[in-house]
Amino acid sequence: MTYRSGRHFLQIPGPTNVPDRVLRAMDRPTIDHRGPTFALMASDCLNGIKAIFKTEQPVIIYPASGTGAWEAALVNTLNPGDKVLMFETGQFATLWQRVAERLGLEVEIVPGDWRTGVDAAKVAERLSADKGHTIKAIGVVHNETSTGVTSNIAAVRKAIDAAKHPCLLFVDTISSLGSVDYRHDEWGVDVTIAGSQKGLMLPPGLSFNAVSKKALKAAEKSTFPQSYWRWDDMIAANKNGFFPYTPATNLLFGLQEAIKMLNEEGLDNVFARHDRMAEATRRAVTAWGLEVLCKNPAEYSSALTAVLMPDGMDADKFRAVALEKFDLSLGNGLGKVAGKVFRIGHLGDFNALMLAGTLFGVEKSLRLSGVNSAHGGVDAAMDYLEG
Ligand SMILES: *Cc1c(COP(=O)(O)O)cnc(C)c1O
Repeated sequence: MTYRSGRHFLQIPGPTNVPDRVLRAMDRPTIDHRGPTFALMASDCLNGIKAIFKTEQPVIIYPASGTGAWEAALVNTLNPGDKVLMFETGQFATLWQRVAERLGLEVEIVPGDWRTGVDAAKVAERLSADKGHTIKAIGVVHNETSTGVTSNIAAVRKAIDAAKHPCLLFVDTISSLGSVDYRHDEWGVDVTIAGSQKGLMLPPGLSFNAVSKKALKAAEKSTFPQSYWRWDDMIAANKNGFFPYTPATNLLFGLQEAIKMLNEEGLDNVFARHDRMAEATRRAVTAWGLEVLCKNPAEYSSALTAVLMPDGMDADKFRAVALEKFDLSLGNGLGKVAGKVFRIGHLGDFNALMLAGTLFGVEKSLRLSGVNSAHGGVDAAMDYLEG
């Protein structure tokens, strides 16, 4: 492999492009994680991250991938054998189900078509039928990164309340937090799961549990054997800006900067920017004559767009062309849609000209791979952004 000049286009839906400001913030000697400088920085992160989740409750930060935070949500609040209701929105929902099953939970799965989000009417129906309250928790993926479908969490909350059901609500926001509007407290979410490497613009390595008072109460009674994921040790140490074990110090310096950047732009502006990039992307897809995987416009994801390849065309061969010709990385189809779908990530640190470059690479690579798609996608996207 020889050096490829210029910036690589990392347009997979996470990990995302890490801004220079975040890189500079992390580029320093690691400091004593039991010293006063660390405590100031960590307290700043622990307080600042609450506004990103829109919560006043504690947010736990793990030196772990998002998968760890999935597990943490389950083992802190539930008991072995408890029933959990989950929705097959796509690959990430399926992987979370597997985590729950491996832990010895009884998972009831509401099947899905991988093109739509969680149907709140089904939530209401299933919970109303559960008179004995055997379902202890519901797990929902907010932004299903394998399909580009965003589920309506406020509607899921309403359905739980309408059924007067006491179950906990867990929401995976790994690919939505910091890109798509999200409200932990207002939507009555008990545990929100997030990760560092998508909307938060950091490298992989941190993950989060935002908790509710109800979740903390459930944690007092949980009988799951657990140690590394314990919330109580974390919350006790965090009060003084410390952690019960060695934290990912340099990633926390990056997080401090990322929070600052999100606040400088303003969360509402960040969300509006993502909405516009997503709509521009869909206009390009339509101009090419291709189909967006998400079927319901109300559920279009502002973080990524999954695009269906024409029948008989291999999405992975096309992605290989994009990488080879333009140094552009696009997301692959996962699980049931492997080879049939490619994904354009437009979340995180991203602007109009980066989108133009990305779409140009897609448009040219499609034709170079033998897809008889129309020209004009880049123009359609840019016309929309100028309008
Ligand atoms: C990326 C992602 C995950 C997996 O996170 P890891 O950090 O790879 O463990 C889980 N859920 C969603 C929705 C994701 O986008």
